[in-house]
Amino acid sequence: MATCSGITRSGERCKGVAIDGSGLCYSHSPDHADARRRSARKGGKRGGRGRPVVEISDIKHRLEELAEDVLEGKVDRGNAAVAGQLLNYALRAVSVGLKAREAEEIEGRLEELEVAMEKQKGRAAHG
Ligand SMILES: [Zn+2]
Repeated sequence: MATCSGITRSGERCKGVAIDGSGLCYSHSPDHADARRRSARKGGKRGGRGRPVVEISDIKHRLEELAEDVLEGKVDRGNAAVAGQLLNYALRAVSVGLKAREAEEIEGRLEELEVAMEKQKGRAAHG
């Protein structure tokens, strides 16, 4: 495998493996700079409920666009109805996922609480 011809920040020749025949590794290839930035941004936002909210607003946006297109006669009503239904399913799937995650969180907290209560009970019984 070819080695990257890029230079690292320390001024040394990069030891990364060249991809796509560009002679540059993943971190030096300009083709991947965008994707890398995107994934870095995503990584920074991960944790919490950031992603489903983005998904929901994306679906909402599409529904609004669809509604506009129907009103302007750009989209066949039948097609729009089907597309709307599918987007609705997607919306439901996201919100179900959101609820499932919340339920998991709550479940986890309940378990912690139960463990804590058991400990207290044990202490009370022995003390
Ligand atoms: Zn490199």
